[in-house]
Amino acid sequence: MPARHTELYDILEIPSDADEDAIKKAYRRLAVKYHPDKNPGNKEAEEKFKKISHAYEILGNREKRQMYDQYGEDAVNGGGGGGGFSGDPFDIFNQFFGGGGGGGFESFFGGGRRRDPNGPLEGADLRYNLGITLDEAFKGVTKKIEFNRSGLCPTCNGSGCADGTKPERCDRCKGSGQVGVSQGFFTMMHECPVCHGTGQKIAHKCAKCGGSGRVSVHRSIELHIPAGIDTGNRIRVTGEGEPGVRGGANGDLYILIQIRPDRRFQREDEDIYAEHHIPFPVAALGGVVTIPTVHGDAELTVPPGTQNGDVLTLKGKGMPVRQRPNVFGNHHVKLTIDVPRKLTDAQKEALRAYAAAFTQDNPGGAKDNGTGPNFTVNSSEADPGFFQKLKDKVGL
Ligand SMILES: [Zn+2]
Ligand SMILES: [Zn+2]
Repeated sequence: MPARHTELYDILEIPSDADEDAIKKAYRRLAVKYHPDKNPGNKEAEEKFKKISHAYEILGNREKRQMYDQYGEDAVNGGGGGGGFSGDPFDIFNQFFGGGGGGGFESFFGGGRRRDPNGPLEGADLRYNLGITLDEAFKGVTKKIEFNRSGLCPTCNGSGCADGTKPERCDRCKGSGQVGVSQGFFTMMHECPVCHGTGQKIAHKCAKCGGSGRVSVHRSIELHIPAGIDTGNRIRVTGEGEPGVRGGANGDLYILIQIRPDRRFQREDEDIYAEHHIPFPVAALGGVVTIPTVHGDAELTVPPGTQNGDVLTLKGKGMPVRQRPNVFGNHHVKLTIDVPRKLTDAQKEALRAYAAAFTQDNPGGAKDNGTGPNFTVNSSEADPGFFQKLKDKVGL
């Protein structure tokens, strides 16, 4: 049995029994990593890119791979090529990523590959988590937000150079300001850690910023939060992100809203869920009780014969609907009927009389026939989904 040829597999960093998918993935990862566009001026990377392309050209083709496995590279290259490249590595690359003229390459890198590595670069976006109360979300609120972010150094105006000096090219990124970092099968471009994306090396540093061109600036901004805002909503503050590089625009600041848990209310979109206790006589006879809502106290009419766990809804007493003035969600309240723990003698007497009334063929009462009280089924149990939701939402 002839020895298997493995050199091309080694180039793609895969075992010689790798399946087609593994070969593709290996090529994808390495071709992106060593693409000359991402490694400007790096001869070693260019050479590696060519080898990877060549290896993929053979191993990515079933027939060629079989030939290679059995007879080696010479057989695939026509018997006498001595390892010459038969295909153009850039064609192979573009075909693989499905882009003519490098278009696929650009979208692969997130659509933002800069044509000019020394052109302006937009600053990074920042995120700020802001917790507010449900009450603030109901009414809308103006918040003062204070934070530190980096800004351009006022002394050198961001150049990082001492007065009268100029920057030189960064050795690490060869002036591009970016370096490739492997993430799984992809290589993503990141800001060069040496020059922080400027592509420059500062020989004579600005004393104020130490050559970074940036200083920490304290920001204090007033932010209007509209009524009806919900957890997970974002508010964008244009230009309050990190400063751009080489005249690029500032990034943006995103305020991420988080509504703090409320003791009394659970919110779901525009609706509010709550719980309320009522005395037994009100449940039996009906009545009007005052309950808290996000709008303030409201009157709730309890119909006679209300059962423990019944849910009543007050329309229009929920949260404001965003961008629809004076439109509100609903307030749902689950009623718990309290059984009195302590009774006066007079109350006990009245209750005994009440109980006695049930023994006289009252269809709504308990017949003392050994089967226990004849309760009606809790009406909210007819809709277990809703009941479960309330249990989850209201069971604080
Ligand atoms: Zn400076
Ligand atoms: Zn650099």
